[in-house]
Amino acid sequence: MDPVTALRQVAFELERSGAPTYRVRAFRRAAQVVRDLPEAELHRRIADGSLEALPGIGPATASVVAQAASGQQPDYLARLLADAPRPARGPLRAALRGDCHSHSDWSDGGSPPEEMAQAAQALGHEWLALTDHSPRLQVANGLSAERLEAQLQLISGLNRELAPFRILTGIEVDILEDGSLDQSDDLLGQLDMVVASVHSKLRMPADEMTVRMVAAASSPHVGVLGHGTGRMIYGRGRPESAFDPVAVFTACRDNGVAVEINCRPERQDPPERLLRIAAEIGCMFAIDTDAHAPGQLDWLDNGCERAVQAGIGPDRVINTRSAEQLTVRLTSSGEEAR
Ligand SMILES: [Zn+2]
Ligand SMILES: [Zn+2]
Repeated sequence: MDPVTALRQVAFELERSGAPTYRVRAFRRAAQVVRDLPEAELHRRIADGSLEALPGIGPATASVVAQAASGQQPDYLARLLADAPRPARGPLRAALRGDCHSHSDWSDGGSPPEEMAQAAQALGHEWLALTDHSPRLQVANGLSAERLEAQLQLISGLNRELAPFRILTGIEVDILEDGSLDQSDDLLGQLDMVVASVHSKLRMPADEMTVRMVAAASSPHVGVLGHGTGRMIYGRGRPESAFDPVAVFTACRDNGVAVEINCRPERQDPPERLLRIAAEIGCMFAIDTDAHAPGQLDWLDNGCERAVQAGIGPDRVINTRSAEQLTVRLTSSGEEAR
């Protein structure tokens, strides 16, 4: 086993099991250090036991490197794999071809776009939408227009290297208090995937929140309504935002906006009661991990289970589509346009 792959796989498994970023960072950093090391020096250091003299390599990462280089599965990795067996994939999970909502280290994620894409590819995805935050979300290092344009450049290069896998360009754009979106129409119109989410003033009165969310769902740029209620079910928790679900989900249906089934363990949003209303109204859905690290891209199962419980089949889930099907938009005359 290649030592860099082994270190990244340890990180992936830690992230998948929900480990905090600081526990994972050592392994991702060590992977970079080893990747940048000349092969001969790596072997010399393994042989003379001086790996730990390198900055960023400690006892745990050194033993993963040494065991991987000698052709063994590192003990640390074996333990993680034994602790977190893979559930059998149900038919809905098996039908998913990508993920509409993810973050990189350009905003508040832990890894660069390339590593997110490689992890998605390894999971069997055909595509991954990279949807970093918008400017107003400063706590999450939201991207200015200039930084988003720079990211688009980077992604077009990565897509040449990774083809046929495709990174869909995107954004998780804040829905501002008046229902407008936190990025220019011009830029939003260039993106493959726009997820619109409420991140501020979550406790506004229900009638105002309804107007705010209906306005966002009516934007021609929005493809997905992200984590609808904003609830947090772990830790200190956060109550659901109040809004009229029939009005909001009807606006989603009428504007071709998919309602997100957010898979993050602490969100699991929307709750079942609202999911059933959206299903009855006839909405489309996006089952999204909202991953902030590569291993979190494997969190689709709980969203699939919740969709099945609410009677939502693969034909109602946009992640079952190919990248081409997702990015071709219909013009008013019914002709296909980019
Ligand atoms: Zn969000
Ligand atoms: Zn997000």
